[in-house]
Amino acid sequence: VLGRSILKIGILTPSVIAGPPETFRKQVEARCIVGVERKGKALALHLHGNSTIPPAYLLVRLGMTGQIVVAPRAAPLLPHTHVRMALDEGADELRYCDSRRFGRLRCCSRKELSNIFGSLGADALQITEEQFRQSLYGRRGAIKGLLMNQAIISGLGNIYADEALFKAQIHPETPAGEITNSAARKLLNAIKTVLRRAVDLQGTSFRDYIDIEGRPGNFRARLCVYQRTGKPCLRCGTSIRRILVCGRSSHFCPRCQRRLRVFVPRGVAARGRGRSH
Ligand SMILES: [Zn+2]
Repeated sequence: VLGRSILKIGILTPSVIAGPPETFRKQVEARCIVGVERKGKALALHLHGNSTIPPAYLLVRLGMTGQIVVAPRAAPLLPHTHVRMALDEGADELRYCDSRRFGRLRCCSRKELSNIFGSLGADALQITEEQFRQSLYGRRGAIKGLLMNQAIISGLGNIYADEALFKAQIHPETPAGEITNSAARKLLNAIKTVLRRAVDLQGTSFRDYIDIEGRPGNFRARLCVYQRTGKPCLRCGTSIRRILVCGRSSHFCPRCQRRLRVFVPRGVAARGRGRSH
């Protein structure tokens, strides 16, 4: 979409737009896309400004099931298509589809975008080892919850958090502050490796995810633990288990990802032991 202009917008479902749809339309129509930026799971298309209009930013949050695709205008509409943005001469469209409608489109100023990006923790692919260690320091909560907390580290969801913890051989309920420096380094490497590999394979599709070219992700076949409950661990053959951590299902190998025994608060340790049999 870089260098292409959004000519005209058709809003089929106003509720996917944050703020008044008419304002959104006025702010976005007849603008050229001059840049694309991402932090964590938030995408921003930079819209060209001029002497009379300041630049604007089209923020896209896909939520659980959002899809943003470029499609020929003549192509049949996918179910749950909510916004159509005609590109250039109108032969192609940028389409926003979302079956569960947790995603949102929003037009904002540079200042608003900076505030939104500023509220997100360091991007998971950019975060340094030092920043990562600092973010774990003194935290009693489960590492799994911390990895999914977008205000601390942005970009990881349930799938990639489970996969990274498996790769680093860390139990999802381990209190974040008890992770040693060497384990933190291993975990950060695992996070970046898992994310890069998933990006190379265009992501992970269970039901809905497709990339901007409309291709489903191929990372699903590479998943080691996520939604493999009861199947053998690819490393040791033990059955993969599923537990709830911070209200989200977490998949792990009870043998490869043992609970740390040191400094574990008593209540948490008892629960962990109970569940591991
Ligand atoms: Zn294992």
